[in-house]
Amino acid sequence: MPDRVINFNPGPATLPFDVIKESAVGAVNFNNLGMSIMEMSHRSKEFEGLMHDAMNDMLGLMGLSSDEYAVLFLGGGASMQFCMLPYNFLGQDQTADYVNTGVWARSAIKEAKLFGKVNIAATSEATGFDRVPTEFSLTPGAAYVHVTSNNTIFGTRMVKFPETGAVPLVCDMSSDFLSRRIDFGRFGMIYAGAQKNIGPAGVTAVIIRKSWVEKAKDGIPTMLSYKTHLGKDSLFNTPPVFPIYIVGLVMKWVKAKGGLEAIEKNNNEKAGLVYQAIDSSGGFYRGTVQPESRSIMNLTFRLATEELEQKFLDEAKKNQLIGLKGHRDVGGCRASMYNALPLEGAAKLAEFMDAFHKAN
Ligand SMILES: *Cc1c(COP(=O)(O)O)cnc(C)c1O
Repeated sequence: MPDRVINFNPGPATLPFDVIKESAVGAVNFNNLGMSIMEMSHRSKEFEGLMHDAMNDMLGLMGLSSDEYAVLFLGGGASMQFCMLPYNFLGQDQTADYVNTGVWARSAIKEAKLFGKVNIAATSEATGFDRVPTEFSLTPGAAYVHVTSNNTIFGTRMVKFPETGAVPLVCDMSSDFLSRRIDFGRFGMIYAGAQKNIGPAGVTAVIIRKSWVEKAKDGIPTMLSYKTHLGKDSLFNTPPVFPIYIVGLVMKWVKAKGGLEAIEKNNNEKAGLVYQAIDSSGGFYRGTVQPESRSIMNLTFRLATEELEQKFLDEAKKNQLIGLKGHRDVGGCRASMYNALPLEGAAKLAEFMDAFHKAN
């Protein structure tokens, strides 16, 4: 096994090493068919089979039925969903409710405003996005309500999702998809760029209630219509074949780990170790968010000065702990600890943090 660094990159991010190794085999000679998975038709029975397995495994992990929900594998990243969602579901005279919890939520809001009216149902902007609101002022009869389950840049997560009644609840789960148990059946649509928790960049998973797709607007460009992709089972055009293959392998890996209950337990343990290192440092490390909103995927913290932060990052790197620099918009440090980061990785970081604290 090659030396692998302990990878805290925010995305693209660490993947299970077993998946990397298996995909390296498939990249050369898939199922002994004498060709790479990348060289096969997306309409071959082998590819269709693995794509359907990936879809079904994903729904299975979420406890959703394929009678009610469909998985679409689309290109364009999570960012494409910022415009696709309102394009399909927000009429000019309609209002959509958006909860503004940071940079990605704001990007989603900007796109929605191109199509209809936006009501900000709650925001934590006034306190620098250091928490996720728990009270929401919803519009009766809104087209949908949009939330972000985990705020990758600010290091917060939503625990209490809005009660939306008959109004579809939509969630950008890009940075904590399949990292914890959530009542997924509450959502009209969930989307996630693969490159944080479920695969490489290039594919976005959209899990959508089929009965809602029927209500989508007509007369919009073919490629941007959910109806197109649902109608053709994600094979309207050539989908991102190789990323979908890896997502399928990651789904099997999550299942083998014991599903979301086991994954969540592991993630809680990992986050606990690092938050403990922060909280027991007597202010040497300062968490940047309110404890009740702390993310277990992206853990953000600061040191006393930017110079000390740089020293921390440099020495961490010498210890094979990489990717700990905070997002350029907010600075500081951030440990992104997605599903595939092993518990030992989090333990090494916590140990390093204690040692660095003592030495400085
Ligand atoms: C990374 C991220 C995005 C953007 O994803 P792309 O696939 O790069 O478009 C959107 N939302 C959240 C919450 C993210 O973490």
